[in-house]
Formats: sequence, C-alpha cells, structure tokens
Amino acid sequence: MNAQERLEIITSRIERARRRFGPPPDHVELIAVSKTFDAAAIRPFLDAGQRRFGENRVQEAQGKWPELKASYDGIELHLIGPLQTNKARDAVALFDVIQTVDRDKLAGVLKTEMERAGRRLPVFVQVNIGLEAQKAGIAPAETAAFVARCRNEHGLDVVGLMCIPPEGDPAGPYFAHLASLARDAGVEQLSMGMSGDFETAIAMGATHVRVGSALFGTRG
Ligand SMILES: *Cc1c(COP(=O)(O)O)cnc(C)c1O
Repeated sequence: MNAQERLEIITSRIERARRRFGPPPDHVELIAVSKTFDAAAIRPFLDAGQRRFGENRVQEAQGKWPELKASYDGIELHLIGPLQTNKARDAVALFDVIQTVDRDKLAGVLKTEMERAGRRLPVFVQVNIGLEAQKAGIAPAETAAFVARCRNEHGLDVVGLMCIPPEGDPAGPYFAHLASLARDAGVEQLSMGMSGDFETAIAMGATHVRVGSALFGTRG
C-alpha cells in the first residue's frame, strides 16, 4: 500500500469512529508520527496532503523538518516526546505545538523562549495517567492546578491534555480519566490514542490521535 492509501484507510477509520460514538466532536485531527522515518519516507505523505506530523525528539526533527517545511506549505509539527529545558529554544524555533509540558521549570523556560522568538505556541500538558515511574507527565491529581499555573503564572496558551497509557492495560479507562481531568482543568483538546487504540480514544473524546506505525510501517 502506498502513503495515500494508508492515509485514506486511517482517515476513514477516524471518521467512522467519530460518527459512531456521539455526540460527534467537530473534528478529530490526525497527527502522523514520523519519528525514526527520514524525509524521503515522509514526502509521500506530504504529497498525499497530510500536514500535521509528530516527532518525539528535537534533534532528530531538526535533521529533516527544516527542509520539508521549506518545500511544503502549511505543515504543523507537534513535539510529542519529553523536552529538556536546554532544548526549549530549538523546540520553539522548529515546532508549532508542544504537547509535553509537564513541570514548572519547563513551562517557565518555554515562556521565555516563546517571547524571545515572538512565537506563542499552543501547548498541551502531558499527564502521567498511569502514574508510571519511567514516564513523563504531571500526576493526575495535580493536573488542574498545574494547568492553572501554566496559564496564569507562566502565560502559556494551554489548549489541551496529552497522555500515553501504560502498555498492556486496556487503554479506555485511562482515556476516560484524561477526559474528566480536562473538564476539571477547563481545557478543550485531548491528544490520546495511537495506532493500536485510536478508535477507543475517539470514543472517549480524543480531538487529536497520534498514529505512527499504522501509517509508516514498523519502526526499525
Ligand atoms: C511513537 C509514538 C506514537 C505513535 O505510536 P504508534 O503505535 O506507532 O502509532 C504516539 N505517541 C507518542 C508519544 C509516541 O512516542
């Protein structure tokens, strides 16, 4: 299958899930997760019309996206992996949305870097929804207070919450929990669901699904 066919299949599965589990949200955005794939593998998806992409490492993204952004209009690049404060300047320069804000120090540095660059990017707060020691994210119980601090103290444009549920557990209850945290925190958007569970995420209210392997194939 070529890139266009893969995109059509995923897009129609998203649309079917969106309509099935009403009330349907106006739209569910597909973020094509291109981590580990090079510019040559990404171009067919751009040629097929996809414009929203996700990468999980700043340095890797710097190696391919400046060139791609120069050749295609309208690209929206999401950072979906952990961000170190010393990479914040590079991240603000290259990315259009930061999905992994999870601590005050990072929020403060991002504000400084966004002001310096004159780029006020939308951000998501990452929630460690399964309270896993090895995962990034703010604890669920601290989410609403952290969102409020990001907005009021750090001046960030927080648009939503993002999570990666524990591997091996059914994801639905974690997605439902993230949706309820978003209501409490007063944010509209939910970035949740990957290749294996994006329809479940849509049933729970996802506005952004992050799909990698179902589009690009297995990562090496
Ligand atoms: C890799 C990755 C994805 C995509 O995972 P697939 O299972 O390949 O769809 C989504 N979200 C994050 C944060 C990732 O790191």
